[in-house]
This record gives sequence, C-alpha cells and structure tokens, in this order.
Amino acid sequence: MPEGDTVWNTARVLQRALAGSRLTGSDFRVPQLAATDLAGWTVRESASRGKHLLLRLTAPPEAAGPPAGAAAARPDAAGRDWTLHSHLRMDGAWRAYAPGERWAGRPAHLIRVVLRSPGAVAVGYHLHELALIPTAEEESLVGHLGPDLLGPDWDPDEAVRRLAAHPDQTIGEALLDQRNLAGVGNLYKCEVLFLRGISPWTPVRAVPDLAGTVALAHRLLAANRGRWTQSTTGSLHRGQTSYVYGRQAQPCRRCGTAVRKEELGDRVTYWCPACQPERR
Ligand SMILES: [Zn+2]
Repeated sequence: MPEGDTVWNTARVLQRALAGSRLTGSDFRVPQLAATDLAGWTVRESASRGKHLLLRLTAPPEAAGPPAGAAAARPDAAGRDWTLHSHLRMDGAWRAYAPGERWAGRPAHLIRVVLRSPGAVAVGYHLHELALIPTAEEESLVGHLGPDLLGPDWDPDEAVRRLAAHPDQTIGEALLDQRNLAGVGNLYKCEVLFLRGISPWTPVRAVPDLAGTVALAHRLLAANRGRWTQSTTGSLHRGQTSYVYGRQAQPCRRCGTAVRKEELGDRVTYWCPACQPERR
C-alpha cells in the first residue's frame, strides 16, 4: 500500500528516470489533460510531499500561454514553471522503463499518463488527482498537510502540536489525518500503535507519550526508504514483515493472543487486545 515511504521511493524513481531531461512526448489518458502535450518540456525535479507526488517541469521558451488542461488559479502569472501533481491513494503507481522495454506488471487500461524522454519512459498507473498546476501554486494542493515525515523540513514538535490540538480524536484516526503529519498510512498506523502498546481507540489526550509515538512513526518510515518491501519487524521475509497489520486471527508475535481487525473511522485497523489495552 502506498504510504509516505512508497511515495518517496516513487519520487526517486522518477527523479532518476527523468530529471534534467527534455521530454520527447507525452500521452495523457485522463479527460482533463487529454489535449496536453509536454513534448519539449524539461523535467526539473521529482519530489514527494506526504503522499503527494510533484513532478516539476519547465515549459520550452516557445510555449505560448498555459498548457492545455492546466489548472491554474492565475494562468497569466504562472510563467514557465509547472508541476504535474499526482496521488497514488490505495492503488496508484509510477513505473520507469527503458525505451523499447516491455511495460510489464500492470494492465494497459490502468495507464493514465506516459512521459517519454530520450533515456526513459515513465508510465503512471491508476493515478488520482492528476493535474498540471503552476509550481508557484503547489501550496494550494499540499499546503494543508502537516509536517512531512520524510521531508527535508520534518518538524516533530509541530506534528505533536497538531495532534494534541484535537484531544478527543482517537489516536488511530489522528495518525492517518494528513493535516497532523503527512506520510503515515494504515500499515504504519497499526504497527506504531502496536509497538507503543496503545489501543487505536485511545483518545489523543490519553496517549502517554505523543512525542515518542511520532518519533517511532518517523523511524519506521525512514527505515523503509529506498526499498519496496515495507517491514516494521526487521524481517524482509514474506509473512514476517508486520506485527499486526494484515494478521487478523493470527497469534500476536509478542503474547500469542489472536490479532483483531475492526473498523475505525473509514478504515480497518489491526491490533492485539492484550498488548494494546484501551486507555480512557
Ligand atoms: Zn499481544
């Protein structure tokens, strides 16, 4: 599942494949950008912010006005620096291929965009919120996010402050709320709370050490940067990469109690009722 570390890795794949190169063609398969042609555009850099991907591009000097399909609040002021925004949500992915390489792995009907450069082809599958916006307007899409766990400006104190501002929210929901801190998805939420011995239903005000919880989330995501197998246990063996996530009815690795799965907010949560007693 794409969480902050997966999005960070994806941004790096695009950076290596495209940064610094001039696109030779593009093929958008979403209605809002169907007429957009990025041939001649230069890819400046690829970045992630929480779970958002930002591919920053510069229009060629000869380009007149904003590109077709652009979503700009102030198109006249946009200049030549644009950002192709995408969000992976549950199932999106970007893949980079060598020119001529077979696009293996995912069905073609899921393709939303193809970007071609002399050295690589980047293919975006099942992307969400695909939009071309002025780079100067990126904040309109990502400005609401809390501190980015894997960002250069990660600020744990600010994350704690934002969490603590809603003391009655359950910690399970608060960790997923990207306005508090950006990058935690359901897997890390479940695993962090298990490792801290906190029930997901505990209200934020009753969490004994919010700073420690935030610090652990940061450590787990950072540890998984640079690889595609997400592990919170230290093991990369199949079936051994998590303590509770995806393990309903299996014995807790610590105490042997059956791991439980239940809905919390609009997501399911996994937890060990013995290791994670509810606090009020
Ligand atoms: Zn247990």
